[in-house]
Amino acid sequence: MRILIALSLLVFGRLSAQDTVIVRGLPWSVVAVEMDSTWGMCDDPATEGREIWIDPRLSEEHELEIVIHELLHAAFWDIDESVIEQVAKDFARVLWRMGYRKQDEKG
Ligand SMILES: [Zn+2]
Repeated sequence: MRILIALSLLVFGRLSAQDTVIVRGLPWSVVAVEMDSTWGMCDDPATEGREIWIDPRLSEEHELEIVIHELLHAAFWDIDESVIEQVAKDFARVLWRMGYRKQDEKG
């Protein structure tokens, strides 16, 4: 399933693919991976070396939604997929309308 790992700052702005994020006290590696059947993936929080995969081919607005979606899975592993999907869409739409965008490295 893992086709390409893009270790580039350009993919996630200031967040390098080697960087970890903390969700509910647990570290997660955020990795750019091109996938066949989904735009994002989140490991079970009980997994050692937890990873969140984000497809680097996403548009900026859709990436925002998918990042929120996978972070919600990381934070609330037992919540139903349909709830995660709706809340991620809602949050992404609000943040996008408020003007949140990625900054380049100079920004
Ligand atoms: Zn999901």
